[in-house]
Amino acid sequence: MSNVYLVGAGCGEPDLLTIKGQKAIAKAGVLIYDWLANPSLLSYAKEGCEKIYVGKQAGKHTMRQEDINQLIVDKAMAGKTVVRLKGGDPYVFGRGGEEGEALAAAGIAFEVVPGITSVIGGLAYAGIPVTHRGMATSFHVITGHRQPSSDSLDYDIYAKLKGTLVFLMGIGNIENICSGLQKGGMDADAPAAVVHRASSPMQRTVVGTLGTLAHDAAENGITAPGLIVIGDVVTKRDALSFFEKKPLFGKKIIVTRARAQSSQLMERISELGGQSIEMPMIETRPIQAERLSAEIARLANYTYVIFTSENGVDIFFDALRKAGKDARALGKAKIAVIGKGTAKALEAHGIAADYMPWEFVGEALVDMLKNILKPDDKILIPRAGNARPYLVDTLKKIAPVTEIKIYETVRADADYSAVKAMLACGEIDYITFASSSTVENFVAEMGEKAQSKLGGAKLISIGPQTSQKIEEHGLCVYAQANEYTIDGILEVLKGDQ
Ligand code: SAH
Repeated sequence: MSNVYLVGAGCGEPDLLTIKGQKAIAKAGVLIYDWLANPSLLSYAKEGCEKIYVGKQAGKHTMRQEDINQLIVDKAMAGKTVVRLKGGDPYVFGRGGEEGEALAAAGIAFEVVPGITSVIGGLAYAGIPVTHRGMATSFHVITGHRQPSSDSLDYDIYAKLKGTLVFLMGIGNIENICSGLQKGGMDADAPAAVVHRASSPMQRTVVGTLGTLAHDAAENGITAPGLIVIGDVVTKRDALSFFEKKPLFGKKIIVTRARAQSSQLMERISELGGQSIEMPMIETRPIQAERLSAEIARLANYTYVIFTSENGVDIFFDALRKAGKDARALGKAKIAVIGKGTAKALEAHGIAADYMPWEFVGEALVDMLKNILKPDDKILIPRAGNARPYLVDTLKKIAPVTEIKIYETVRADADYSAVKAMLACGEIDYITFASSSTVENFVAEMGEKAQSKLGGAKLISIGPQTSQKIEEHGLCVYAQANEYTIDGILEVLKGDQ
């Protein structure tokens, strides 16, 4: 049985990794990866896995191939489970064969986990089928790396092939490739395209003809990595393009939520073709754990429990679990929530909320409960430390309320210089805010004259309080979600395209 894997990471989008590849990464004690492998795949590794970046960016080799081969062999010899993660497929211009040979020479068994190569997958994401009935009955994958002196004869041969030609590693040599093929007799009018960073949010496709492509690519600032494709199949793009038609394709969107809560929004942005950029402005910390556990011990006394955030739900159930209890401890108490996200978080614990107002603010919940609550009800509200007093103050006039501040949000502390630079250059399309505290901290982070440092990015707010906070600081709300949820924010983003 082998414990060394040469794994194809797929051509860009992280979900294009195979299941077998994911399983191998999860087992790895050492993960050796290149720049073309999507870095988010590293998150499948188990804790303590050693991750070694060996570069391979065009023109910027971090480690020589012989040294990479040796590294793989050494780690395997040391008894580690080694995953060598490579962009696309390991055997398509990936030098995976050489790594396999080095392992074989050292007597080490290994497995190859094929990956979706950019040759096929990358072109598909640009709407170009690598073959098509009646149009291309073969395809040819060629390195574009070599210099003209050594391969001018080859171009004569390539020019006579009837199928689709795909050049990898060819952007720096595109002029020679296009002129070489024309000299070899290929028609200057042949449809041709370049695809940069295929299947990533940075994907860019430039279409032209063999005669114009080198110029078109340069004019559009196309850099490596890119695929050069020549053949009639390029014309199928109009009908078959799907990725570039996604509603948020090409958009860069800053997510300011706490890191622990941003995954749902980030995932949806990426499904919609956008690129999300994390700029977590808050961190949540549980507080008053003892008070919470004391109230949990007395839970049977309460007739209502009100949750106002996902965080509150998570911390409450964590405390419940630590007390050796589960959802049944809530007994006959009615459960009210503010926010769909809160309701969903409760559902994960098997509880359907009894009351959820249409509008996700305290006022709406008070309206809903004021005629239902009786003076002998007892209400427990575990919630954020900096929540507005309105809900508690108003409900107290009807029935006794115990409020426990179970978490506080503090300003997250990190190096935001890269995001700030993107903002300053006008590269960011939207900034999303899902709470007033993220706004406060964002403004503090940006310093004076924040509006002038946003490079025209549009501010999207989750609801009225967040919008008010944005405006209080002299910033401009571009749009506010109709439904005060993360889905509401996504609807605004989709609707703006
Ligand atoms: N093993 C890889 C290819 C490695 S060679 C595969 O199967 O895809 C590196 C070249 O692949 C790059 O120079 C570029 O031409 C191409 N390439 C890889 N991923 C790409 C992507 N997402 N978009 C465009 N070209 C890509």
